[in-house]
Amino acid sequence: MTDRPLTLMAVHAHPDDEATGTGGVLARYAAEGIRTVLVTCTDGACGDGPGGVKPGEAGHDPAAVAAMRRQELEASCEVLKVGHLEMLDYGDSGMMGWAANDAPGSFWTTPVDEAAARLADLMRTYRPDVVVTYDENGFYGHPDHIQANRITSRALELAGATPKVYWTTAPRSMMARFGEVMREFGGDWEEPGSEESELPEIGLPDEEISTWVDTTGFGGQKFDALAAHASQGENIFFLKMGKEKFTELMGVETFVRVQDTTGAALPEDDLFAGLR
Ligand SMILES: [Zn+2]
Repeated sequence: MTDRPLTLMAVHAHPDDEATGTGGVLARYAAEGIRTVLVTCTDGACGDGPGGVKPGEAGHDPAAVAAMRRQELEASCEVLKVGHLEMLDYGDSGMMGWAANDAPGSFWTTPVDEAAARLADLMRTYRPDVVVTYDENGFYGHPDHIQANRITSRALELAGATPKVYWTTAPRSMMARFGEVMREFGGDWEEPGSEESELPEIGLPDEEISTWVDTTGFGGQKFDALAAHASQGENIFFLKMGKEKFTELMGVETFVRVQDTTGAALPEDDLFAGLR
């Protein structure tokens, strides 16, 4: 093969997304000796401030929130044993429709080519064998997640020759189970795509999922990485269910393979199938 280590690069929008979406695979592949690189695109300044102060409320200082979230991200990376953290430091664009969408420096208003050029430089530096990001709808429609998909797609064209590329997803069967647990733990949960819900249906039918990675042994790390983002605790429902339930529920991470040069048969249970 080559003299450089097998490398996984995950491209995420905000501090804490690395733990939610890919905490299991980051921890698992680091444990298997694979080099892990996390690229976080925004500073997370639209997150909650200390004491749960929401953006736009009195006392919400975006710069202070960004600084705090950077520390939390570093702590999360330590838990997940992420090898390299790269921050693009664009402004958090907030949820779709917020004024922050169009604020100067927001990730959402950054030209795709501009941000993609910086990401492509990182790809040339690390030469990842596997790149993971969100689907074209950013999994659930957040502008920064959509933009992460766009710049990743463009950066892959610019940098060339990445053997395997994946989008994160969730199986619908798991979303249903997740809804049950949410209600059990007192969460306010409306099934996305249902009549009551304003959210579009998210995730995919199980048969459309190409890649199921067992991360059962790493649920504790994933939970601890989420817990490292304590300032966003109010928004991280998973923490309320406790480590044991969380590990049981989140024992697998799922992906759709969108680019492949290895010919590894599908469905597969390893992002690096065909590479080692
Ligand atoms: Zn996010």
